[in-house]
Amino acid sequence: MTTDKDGEQFEGLFFDGVSSRGERTRCVRESGGDLLLDCGSNDPRRISAREYATIRPVGNSPIVLRLKDGAELHVATDARSRAVFGVGVPRLTRLVEGIENRPISVLSVVLVAIGVSAASYIYGLPLLAKNIAPRIPIAVKREIGSQGLTFLDKVMFMPTGLSEEQQARPRRLVEGLQSIVTLPLMPIVMTRRMGHGDKEAANAMALLPNTIITTDKLVASLDDAELEAVLAHEMGHLHLDHSTQSLVRGSAVSIATLVLFGGDPGVFQALAINLIDSKNSRDHEREADRFALDSLARRGGDPMALHKALRKISEGHEESGLGSYLSSHPMTDDRLREIERYSLHGRRVSE
Ligand SMILES: [Zn+2]
Repeated sequence: MTTDKDGEQFEGLFFDGVSSRGERTRCVRESGGDLLLDCGSNDPRRISAREYATIRPVGNSPIVLRLKDGAELHVATDARSRAVFGVGVPRLTRLVEGIENRPISVLSVVLVAIGVSAASYIYGLPLLAKNIAPRIPIAVKREIGSQGLTFLDKVMFMPTGLSEEQQARPRRLVEGLQSIVTLPLMPIVMTRRMGHGDKEAANAMALLPNTIITTDKLVASLDDAELEAVLAHEMGHLHLDHSTQSLVRGSAVSIATLVLFGGDPGVFQALAINLIDSKNSRDHEREADRFALDSLARRGGDPMALHKALRKISEGHEESGLGSYLSSHPMTDDRLREIERYSLHGRRVSE
């Protein structure tokens, strides 16, 4: 592969602008701004700095390099890629543009109201989010969920390689669980492939309002009891409406910091979101684990199935490096220890 001593090398997903499927591609950005794209060939394609536009990422979405012919290269957003492609922490104008460009204007208006009222007590936000989340109409949640899945299908997922029979297994398990936990909307289970070869990831995630995504590797590597435990955890996220709460909280924090700090909210915004979100995502994972353990206990399941499943998922993440790109399940020893305690003592402990 061609490299350039003056260039920075990245891995990205290349979309040819025709098919919706991304191809994993190495790219070098030379110091002058030219790109060398090596789409697995010996003859890298050179794209001059004038022939592509860099689209600033929103949140953790990828940096998009849009070529004149409509093709795109998506590069994961981190400190290095932000620095190299010149898309630092967003400033006021970008923040406002981001808010204005949100596809769901009704929601934006609701969130502006929430954000302003939340400005004086950022730490009250999790509670506020819990109260606001149920008031967001189901149609808005469906729209957000559908756009989220379209985005993930574009940048991260590939069609499943599993047979109909294999895909039916998580669906059957969810149907079994639904008879115990009875979510208001029957969850829809979809299967996607995530990552290639030995970097293929075992993961699951819940999307608004009632979709659960399982990856091929997750389905293939977990036995029924382990897969059921993971699905019960995802049903916990749906039941407790965690995605809506995170969305409300994140948007409200953006607006609240804008109101509080005015001109350049970037640093404060990042600090506030990190402070609130790291605690909250830990709380959400703990709540979803607890929901799963209680549900499994009601049908006489073994709580350690969740423990085994989490360990398998986390091992995969360490190898794939995909965990940091979309870390829906931050693995902590705390979670494993809580499950161990639950397994020993039942639901009386660790309140
Ligand atoms: Zn989770």
